Amino acid sequence: MQIEIIKNEENENLSPMMRQYFDITKQYPDCIVLFRVGDFYETFFDQAKIVSKSLNLVLTGKECGLSEKAPMCGVPYHAVDVYMSKLIKLGFKVAIAEQMEDPKSAKGIVKREVIKIITPGTVLSTEYLDEKTNNFILSLCYSGGEIGIALMDFSTGDFIIGDADDEKTIDDILIKYEPKELLVNKNIENSNIDLADFKNKRIAVTLLSDECFDIGNLKKEDFDLLNKVLNTLPNLKDLSKKNSIRAAISVYNYVKENQKSELSHLERVEYMDNNSYMYLDSATIKNLELTEGIRDRDNKGTLINILDKTMTAMGGRLLYRYIEEPLKNKDLIIYRQEAVKDFVDREVDLVELREYLNSIYDLERLTTRIVMKHANARDLIAFKNSIYVLPYVKGLLSSYNSKLIKDIISRFDTLKDMFSLIDESIVDDPPLLMHDGDIIKDGYNDEVDKLRLRKNNGKQLLLELEERERNKTGIKNLKIKYSRLTGHLFEILNTYKGAVPDYFIRKQTLVKAERYDTKELNELQNSILNAEDRLGNVEYEVFQNVREQIASNIERIKNTAMELAKIDVLSNFAYVSIKNNYVCPSINDDGIINIIDGRHPVVEKLDNKNEFIKNNTELDNENYIDIITGPNMAGKSTYMRQVALICLLAHIGSFVPAKAANITLLDRIFTRVGASDDLSKGQSTFMVEMSEVANIVKNATNKSLIILDEIGRGTSTFDGLSIAWSVVEYISSVIKAKTLFATHYHELTELEGKVAGVNNFNVEVIEKDDDIEFLRKIVRGSAKKSYGIAVAKLAGLPDEITENAKKHLNSLMKKDE
Ligand code: ATP
Repeated sequence: MQIEIIKNEENENLSPMMRQYFDITKQYPDCIVLFRVGDFYETFFDQAKIVSKSLNLVLTGKECGLSEKAPMCGVPYHAVDVYMSKLIKLGFKVAIAEQMEDPKSAKGIVKREVIKIITPGTVLSTEYLDEKTNNFILSLCYSGGEIGIALMDFSTGDFIIGDADDEKTIDDILIKYEPKELLVNKNIENSNIDLADFKNKRIAVTLLSDECFDIGNLKKEDFDLLNKVLNTLPNLKDLSKKNSIRAAISVYNYVKENQKSELSHLERVEYMDNNSYMYLDSATIKNLELTEGIRDRDNKGTLINILDKTMTAMGGRLLYRYIEEPLKNKDLIIYRQEAVKDFVDREVDLVELREYLNSIYDLERLTTRIVMKHANARDLIAFKNSIYVLPYVKGLLSSYNSKLIKDIISRFDTLKDMFSLIDESIVDDPPLLMHDGDIIKDGYNDEVDKLRLRKNNGKQLLLELEERERNKTGIKNLKIKYSRLTGHLFEILNTYKGAVPDYFIRKQTLVKAERYDTKELNELQNSILNAEDRLGNVEYEVFQNVREQIASNIERIKNTAMELAKIDVLSNFAYVSIKNNYVCPSINDDGIINIIDGRHPVVEKLDNKNEFIKNNTELDNENYIDIITGPNMAGKSTYMRQVALICLLAHIGSFVPAKAANITLLDRIFTRVGASDDLSKGQSTFMVEMSEVANIVKNATNKSLIILDEIGRGTSTFDGLSIAWSVVEYISSVIKAKTLFATHYHELTELEGKVAGVNNFNVEVIEKDDDIEFLRKIVRGSAKKSYGIAVAKLAGLPDEITENAKKHLNSLMKKDE
C-alpha cells in the first residue's frame, strides 16, 4: 500500500530528528518506517496513526519543532518481530531504520539508515512464518509469448525456476506453491495473465522495471553468487537465454535489495521438471483436497491433515512436496517403500526416533538466520540442542537394511564440531539482549575472562576503598552508595560533616546526609564501568565470530537438514501406517489397479459413530472404465476419490488404507468434480466444466487415472447426456485410461458390452417404504433409480414439496414409457 508522505516535511521549524525521519520516509514511500529511537521503534504523523489503529497501540505525541506535537506510536525494540509480523499480515511493507552509531558517542543527531525492508516474501520472523509450509516469492517474466518462472523461499533458501506453457500452468503453480508475493515485468500486461486474480488471492504484487530482470545490471559479487547457484543446474546452457533465468535474476535482485545483505545462503536452484514426477494440476490438487479443503481453506478434512504427523518443520515441508510431486519411477517408489518398512518393522525404535526428531528446530530457517546475521545467542543454543541428538539418530538407524536409509546414513553429518564450538563458547541460557554481556562462557576467550574478572572484582574493590576511607577519616558510618543518576558516591550523615576531609568533593545534598566523590573513587568507578561496557562489546564480537564459523558451514548444515527431513517423512509414513492400519502396496507396470478392502483415508476418520464401509477396486487393460450409478449420498464420490488417493499415496512411497493393493504406475491423475464457476475469468459453470473435460481428454493417456464425478449436468439433459456418452466412447476407444465415472444418467449403463472396457457398478441401498438405507457397498450392475426425492426429504425439504415432486416424477416416468 502507498503511504502518504506527510506535508510537514517542508516546514523549516522541524527538529533535526524529524527531518531525518522525513528524509527516510521519502526514500521508502510504500513502506511503514519503523524508526529506532533508544529502546523503541517509533512511527510519527500519518504513519503513527495507521500503526496505532492497525496494532491497537496508544497514540502519543512528541515535540517536533512545530506548534503541535507530532503524533507518535512506537513498539519496544525487543518485541519488534511480533508487531512487524502483524503489519505484514495486514498487507504493509515495513522498513527498519536503525541507529547506525552508538548514541552515547554520536555527535549531533544519531545517524540512521534503513537496514532492511520486510515484505510478505522476505520475512524471517518465526512469528510470521508457518512452520510446515514454504514462504515463496513468485516472479513471472513475460516476453516473446513465453512465461519464465522463478520461486524463492528466502527463509529456507529453496530456489526453483521453470517455464510455463500457458496461464493454466500459472494456476497450477499458485495452488501448488501458494506464493505470498508476486513480482512481474511490465510486459506482463501483454499476456493473458490477469494480475487482479493474484490480488484477489491476497498475493502482494510488485511491478519491477526491466533492469531488474537483466543480468547485465548485476554487480560483480551478485553475478558471481547467482552464477554459482544457477550453475548447479545441469542444463543451464540450454536455459541461459530463457525468461526463467530472467525471472531468477529479478527475484534475487528484489530480495537482495530489500534485505541489503548477501544472499549467501542460496546454495542451489532446481528446474521445475514436470517429467520427473507426476504432474498434478490445480483441479486435481483441489478436488482431492490434498492440502486445502474445497469449502474451507484450512487443512481439516485434507489428506495432509491425516498424513502429516511429522516431528520437524523440514519434514513437514518435504511431505508437502512429496504429496504434490508423486513419483513416476517404480524403482524410486520401492526405494522409499523399503525404508518405510524398515521403520514399521522396528516400532520401538520409531518411538525413540520421533522423540529425537521432536527436539530438532527448523534447521533450514535457523541456518538462514545465522547466515543473514539475524540469529542471536538463543538461536545458537536452539541450534546446538537440535544437533545434540544427531549422533543418536545416526546410531539408531545404522543397522537398518533398506538402501535408502543406508544411503542417508552414509551421508549423514552429525555436525559434532559445531556442537562442540557452541557448547564451549555460549552459555546455556543466554539473555535475549545481545550487547549486555553474559553470553560467552568462562574460559573460552582470554579477554572476556579478564574483563569479567575486573567487572566482578569491582564490588570487592569498592568495599575495600570504603573500609580504607572509614579508617582514615574515623567516620564510622561512611558508606559507598549507588544511584543510576550519580553512580557511586560516599555518603556521610550530617552529624559527621565536620570530619569530612578536603579531598572529598561534595556532589549531592540529601535531607540527613551529603554525598561525595574522590579522585580514587572516580577512577575505580570508571574502570568498573569501562570493563562492563567493553565486556558487552567483546562478548558480542566473540559471539559474532562463533556465528560466522557456523555460517561458513552452511552447506553441511543444509545437507543434514535435508537428510533429517527425509528421515522424518519416511518414519512419519511408518507411524501413520501403524496408527491407521495401512498396507504396503505392490507396484506394477501392467496396467492393473487391484485394491482389496480400500478405504478413504480422510472420510474413515471423520465419523466416529458409523463404521467406514470398505470396497474393492479392479481395473486392468480389458476392464478400464467403471460407470458408477447410485442414489445421491450413496458414497460414489467418496469411493472414486478413495481410489485416486490410494493410487497417489502409492506413488509417493507411502502405505495405503486397504487390506491389500496392487497399483500400476500412473503418469497422471485427473479429476473432474462437481459444479463451480469462475466468474472472475468470465467462465460460467458449464464452461468451466467443459474446459476441465477438454484438458483431461487432451492430456490423458492409457497410463492415466481419470475420475469423472458427473459431466454434462450444467446444460440441458439431452445435450449433457450426449456429451457424457461421447466422452465415455472416446476414452474407451482412443485414450484407454483407467476411468471411474459416477453419473445420474442411467442411460450410460447401456454402454456395458457395447464399447470396450466398460463395466457397470452401483452403490447398494435398501428401500424401506419411503426411505432408503445406504449400504455404501460398491457392487456390479446398475442402479435402478436415483432416489433424489428421498435424499431431498432427508436433507429437510418440506413434505409439501417432496410429495408434489413425487407426483411430477410419476407423470414424467409415465410419459417416458
Ligand atoms: P452425490 O451423488 O449426491 O454426489 P455421492 O454418492 O457422491 O452423492 P458421497 O458424497 O460420496 O455420495 O457420500 C456421502 C456421505 O456418505 C459421505 O460424506 C460420507 O459421510 C458417507 N460415506 C460415503 N462412503 C462411505 C463409506 N464407504 N463408508 C461410510 N460412510 C460413507
